[in-house]
Amino acid sequence: MLISITGTPGVGKTAVAMELTKRGYKVRSLTDVAKEYSCIMDEEDGEYVVDVEKLSRIKIDGIVEGHLSHYLSADKVIVLRCNPLIVKTRLENRGWDYEKIMDNVEAELLDVILIEALEMEREVYEIDTTDKSVEEIANAVEDIIRGKFTEKYRPGKIDWLTELQDRLEEVVRL
Ligand code: ADP
Ligand code: MG
Repeated sequence: MLISITGTPGVGKTAVAMELTKRGYKVRSLTDVAKEYSCIMDEEDGEYVVDVEKLSRIKIDGIVEGHLSHYLSADKVIVLRCNPLIVKTRLENRGWDYEKIMDNVEAELLDVILIEALEMEREVYEIDTTDKSVEEIANAVEDIIRGKFTEKYRPGKIDWLTELQDRLEEVVRL
């Protein structure tokens, strides 16, 4: 079985991957997988350009995390979500430039990765990580892997636009 853990940069994919590794799961980064299977087409400003079509043809088992991991042929795709205001603070802490931060904050606000994941027509689940500890998120991932409480993680329940309607000027470029 292949599980992918995806989501906008800053939502906490790597933190959850580390917790799952501690619990004995074998978790790989999408970048490592893309390198191993020669899916890196180019490198621009220190970021890899990945052949996502080629990714979808890789046959592997295990858990893979990364913001492109929903392009793998995963049995279950887990989209981590996080309040865009928090994503913004976390990306600011990475020292990224304003445009790159807002590209990602707006993407989280508008469900971009969730929609991409749904378009792959796989089993998609969503976890709202806002106000959850890394341990709690890892518990939720384990629930999904074991097929428990699947209704709770059914996608479509998160609506940042409504939740942040009074603070939109902070999460979109006007
Ligand atoms: P991603 O891999 O999705 O880009 P990271 O795992 O690197 O995100 O997390 C971004 C930052 O947020 C890190 O500093 C991390 O320690 C912090 N973080 C991640 N998840 C949580 C959480 N559940 N609670 C508090 N801080 C978190
Ligand atoms: Mg990461």
